[in-house]
Amino acid sequence: MISILFLIAVAASIITAIMGLSFLISCIWEKETRAALYAGLQFLLMLGLVFLLFYLEATAFFETATGRAGLILGLVLTGGTFALLTLRIGSNPQALQGTRGLMVGNVKRYDERDIVFARNRTLSPGLEQYQAYYELHPEHEQYDAARRKRGGPLGKPGSIDKPQDRPNVAATLASLSIPLHLSTPEKFNPSQHPEFSQQRVELSPASASARIKGYTLSIGAKLVGITEINPLWIYANRGEIFNENWDDWGREIELTHKYAVVFATEMGFELVGTAPHSSTTIASMANYASGAFIATQLAAFIANLGYSATANHLRHYDAALVPLAVDAGLGETGRLGYLMTKDFGPRVRLGAVTTDLALIPDNPVDIGVEDFCKICKKCAHCCPSNSIPLDDQEAVNGTRRWKLNAETCFDYWGKVGTDCNICMRVCPWSHANTSPHKLIRTLITRNRYSRYLFNSMDDIFYGRKPKPKPAPEWARFDE
Ligand code: SF4
Ligand code: SF4
Repeated sequence: MISILFLIAVAASIITAIMGLSFLISCIWEKETRAALYAGLQFLLMLGLVFLLFYLEATAFFETATGRAGLILGLVLTGGTFALLTLRIGSNPQALQGTRGLMVGNVKRYDERDIVFARNRTLSPGLEQYQAYYELHPEHEQYDAARRKRGGPLGKPGSIDKPQDRPNVAATLASLSIPLHLSTPEKFNPSQHPEFSQQRVELSPASASARIKGYTLSIGAKLVGITEINPLWIYANRGEIFNENWDDWGREIELTHKYAVVFATEMGFELVGTAPHSSTTIASMANYASGAFIATQLAAFIANLGYSATANHLRHYDAALVPLAVDAGLGETGRLGYLMTKDFGPRVRLGAVTTDLALIPDNPVDIGVEDFCKICKKCAHCCPSNSIPLDDQEAVNGTRRWKLNAETCFDYWGKVGTDCNICMRVCPWSHANTSPHKLIRTLITRNRYSRYLFNSMDDIFYGRKPKPKPAPEWARFDE
């Protein structure tokens, strides 16, 4: 009996040591020096435990009453801890309702003209739209004027990497040009290819959904989901103008499409790890370019099947994509205001296609984000402009959530000359998608005690305020 218990104890210690070793390898691969030191220490401790067990067995310690009791107690504690960290504890049934589970009052559709990007990019003094907007919203005028004077992100005066940032700004602008190329109506709202002579391809919703999802993943998306569109997430009025189509500015957005296919692309952890330096913005814009590329092709695919489809990407949005992504089961909204996915945390960018093609919607998910964010608060502590709330969620426009201060966040972008991304970099869900991190994310998705444990471990291994990592050689900003 004791020898079986001894073998179980040895097997458990060896498994834990192997997990420690794989975490060490992952940390070295991720170039996380501090985490690698702690992971190395953890591995040595587990290895030491294996040797200690063999030593005690060799000295017949487990044949004594104390040895037997110690062995049994150790196994009971290990088994108990394992169960405590792996059982499904701390579910959030409201998350399974998607954005409907967050509603606490009347929700008013957002006006795209009010969004900080639309005000900053689209309106300039002298335009009649400028006059019209600030007559309605005098509260923004002085603030916006001062911000325009200071300059926005993308290498404007004040960039933290100046003057060495030029190659990175060049790369960023190269990617940024792609969504603009794809922002004309015939691109985001494509017609059917003449090959089909205006005939529809009839597909069952199940078959159409499988084809649409498979195609989306095959052309570069990492995650894809489908939702029936809640009209509340469609912008009320057009606010962003890119092709001088000023007649569109302020026009009410009417969308007859019933479904949205929402997808996410992964931002490389290496570049995100350098935030807030100019190299991180390369990742953001490259993902917006991929998003535009995927959304436009997907819209054309659906149009060729004979259905109406509209691409939503950086240079053409009809809808707010984070709530659509939540409803499509891609993840939950985190404290930092971005979508948090199970596989990549907030290290994603979103795109979507709305359509009248009948599809089968996915279900929203409960991956434990709300609970984890209540404990963690790391993004809020690290945000240099204090734009992320430290308090609990609040009711904002009829939904319960953490409200990012987009004004002060955008101000900081202008100050550093990049899109910052510090909150994304420090988030414990943003680590590279290696096997140890996958395992940890699976545990925190399932279990409240794991959320506490791995939140503390993240602080120990990576620091409460982790520093940016050096950029890869090709994206350096310091030479
Ligand atoms: S991007 Fe930067 S400034 Fe904006 S919320 Fe995140 S950490 Fe704060
Ligand atoms: S850093 Fe922490 S609090 Fe912020 S979004 Fe990530 S998990 Fe949530």
